[in-house]
Amino acid sequence: MPTPAPTPTATPTTTPPATAGDNRPPSHLFYQARQRRPMATRAEGIYIWDEHGRRVIDGSSGAMVVNIGHGNRRVLDAMKRQMDQATFIYRLHFENAPAEDLAAALAARCPAGLDRVFFVSGGSEAVESCLKLARQHAVATGQGSRYKVISRFPSYHGSTMGALSVTGHAAFTTPFAPMMHESPKIAAPTAYLDRDGLDMAARGRRYADMLDEEIRRQGPETVLAFIMEPIGGASTGALVAPDSYYPRIREICDRHGVLLIHDEVMCGAGRTGRYLGGDHWGITPDLIALSKGLGAGYAPLGAMIASEKLVRPVLDAGGFQHGFTYAGNPLAAAAGLAVLDEIDAHDLIGNAARMGDLLKSRLDALKRRFPFIGDVRGRGLLLAVEFVSDPETMATLPRALNAHARMVDLAFDRGLILYSRRTRGGIDGDHVLVCPPMIVTEAQIDEIMAIFTDTLEALARELSLPWSA
Ligand code: PMP
Repeated sequence: MPTPAPTPTATPTTTPPATAGDNRPPSHLFYQARQRRPMATRAEGIYIWDEHGRRVIDGSSGAMVVNIGHGNRRVLDAMKRQMDQATFIYRLHFENAPAEDLAAALAARCPAGLDRVFFVSGGSEAVESCLKLARQHAVATGQGSRYKVISRFPSYHGSTMGALSVTGHAAFTTPFAPMMHESPKIAAPTAYLDRDGLDMAARGRRYADMLDEEIRRQGPETVLAFIMEPIGGASTGALVAPDSYYPRIREICDRHGVLLIHDEVMCGAGRTGRYLGGDHWGITPDLIALSKGLGAGYAPLGAMIASEKLVRPVLDAGGFQHGFTYAGNPLAAAAGLAVLDEIDAHDLIGNAARMGDLLKSRLDALKRRFPFIGDVRGRGLLLAVEFVSDPETMATLPRALNAHARMVDLAFDRGLILYSRRTRGGIDGDHVLVCPPMIVTEAQIDEIMAIFTDTLEALARELSLPWSA
């Protein structure tokens, strides 16, 4: 066999920019407009090491992805075994056992009736798939007038155009507005901010009724679906609605023939102390988008889960006109299966619930020393701390302080990774998410709390916020 000619090394046509204060060679990579980050060389358990041997705690599990921690032996071994057999099998040519088994395992964990699984490679793809299956179902069942997907503000559902259309976050959507489809927004249930004299149950119903009003305003015959995160992720900072919200939303969707989509991309796969966020309220949605913790950082993996009732008419009408090349590949599925085995073998969902309660109570206790902590919320290990200028009125800190981003940077300097955003309700607000992997131990929570507390002191000093030593 002739030896192939060596590929000529590509010569860049422009010199990539170097970053001030960084003596590494310029990088060809770009993501967001941020300064360059340290180079990671190793990751194990809840820790990541950089090229200088510095160890940091992965207090956000990446982007709430690495649920079972880094370097898990069971998953790596399962992937190696699968790699020796086949890494890629195209789903339209063959079925493969890992994808079949993972679909069955997911169906067993989802509410009864949700047992048809469509694999994808990430969260945006999972949301996109839900939107398209919902629409194709409407077309296949003579409801072609339904096309609007209502969502909440603020919210994040992904960066592809469909998922972006249902995202309620101006910074992500504004440049693309003319290219997006119509998606009316209702307020996210930020009941903790309200000073209206109502009890939480009444507030929950009031927020849910906004959906009813919006469906009527739009014309029920035009509304296809409502999408929400059962437990908020980064956009709302682990927002949990009052209990009364959830069943009422289900009722309203049923009343108007509107499909309910749960975006479980961040809150699903065990992180909140139940396999699905919606399980805390026993809600059965019509469609589920799952990703992040499903592949847990070992493989790009996501899934849409639907009922036979929804899927059948679409298949009978000629098939689901949708799909991605990497969908259902056996390597990602083998990783996903091993992740589920690891979760079960060590009761990591139980651990997320127990360690989450502990971490939340320790974070709550910080309010006494740091009165700029206005709220601590979330479930299991999907937790957020919100900073305010006045905990009574919940008034926000001045935007110019950039408190959430400073908190993240100061924590990183001290060896703890946090995740943050500046969004809440219709107004801006600072929150940081504290979401370590589900394997976290009590001793590691002590470690996280020591750094978190030290960071709060540094933040308070730097921004002249009130605190007591
Ligand atoms: N939905 C939610 C709730 C998310 O948090 C994310 C990612 N942060 C997505 C969708 C999109 O997922 P991905 O980045 O994997 O496409």
